[in-house]
Amino acid sequence: QAKLAGKSQFKFYSEEMSQELIFKSNLKTALKTALARKEIQVYFQPIFAISDAKIVGFEALCRWNHKEYGPIRPDVFIALAEETGDIVEIDRYVLCEVIKNLAEFEQQSDKISLFGTVNFCPLDFEQKDLTQYLNFQLEKYQLTNNKLEIEVTERSMLAEDETDIKQKLEELANLGVKIAIDDFGTGYSALSYVKNYRSYISKIKVDRLFVRDIEVDHADAALINSIISMAKGLGMKVVAEGIETEEQKNMLETLGCQYGQGYLISKPIPIEEFKQLVFNTEN
Ligand code: C2E
Ligand code: MG
Ligand code: MG
Ligand code: MG
Repeated sequence: QAKLAGKSQFKFYSEEMSQELIFKSNLKTALKTALARKEIQVYFQPIFAISDAKIVGFEALCRWNHKEYGPIRPDVFIALAEETGDIVEIDRYVLCEVIKNLAEFEQQSDKISLFGTVNFCPLDFEQKDLTQYLNFQLEKYQLTNNKLEIEVTERSMLAEDETDIKQKLEELANLGVKIAIDDFGTGYSALSYVKNYRSYISKIKVDRLFVRDIEVDHADAALINSIISMAKGLGMKVVAEGIETEEQKNMLETLGCQYGQGYLISKPIPIEEFKQLVFNTEN
């Protein structure tokens, strides 16, 4: 009896697993044509100054609406796209949308000057033609205001050897492209690469894990506090991610955090909506 039950349980799990594998493999195939079918959209999430809640920039985040399965979560499809290599084409699409809009914003208003960030995976960062590609797109849209930033995690900083990374960062710096460290505090060797690459890093983004309980958890407040002092000492700005309440924002203001991002001000929204939000509240 027990043996039988065990057997059927095994069968049950393996069926569930193969379902999952089939689903993922279907998604991988669909990814190849997702851009061409215009299923991938770029959303912008405002980044604001903590002190007065004014929007100072945005992060570009992509959304995939599959024709049958509906919306697929980025953490699911980004990982798959990294496996297949399709991420490079997707992120270059996101990058171009950001460059195009930054150039447009610059023309539209001389009172508002926003920065825009794009998320990069190690594979994007490793591409040999990255600087050449960036140079070409920046020239194409005549973007010369140094408002483009690339968000990387420690995964990109560990992917190649130090001299290669430094050379790449130097090339990006020469194009006026800045670097933000994403999900800070969740990786392994954060402090050493912040030290190594400090002259290229303009912002540190504190993961929302540390922001969530900031009012009640002294350890979180203490950690954010030290990240802020470290950043100040190195001439970098801090962006707190995942701010959902006024209380969290106030606490971050007390700690001296410069920038924030989160549902309190806005979720990631379609570009048209973002423009409405920024340019209709202009005074
Ligand atoms: P991330 O770069 O750390 O992006 C921040 C994530 O936090 C986004 O999730 C955003 O929607 C979410 N978020 C922002 N504010 C709040 C808040 O107040 N509360 C909560 N609960 N969440 C908040 P999203 O868009 O689902 O993206 C997840 C991750 O997928 C991103 O984390 C990034 O690593 C990756 N990703 C998204 N878009 C792209 C892309 O175009 N290219 C690449 N390479 N990765 C991307
Ligand atoms: Mg990010
Ligand atoms: Mg992040
Ligand atoms: Mg994150």
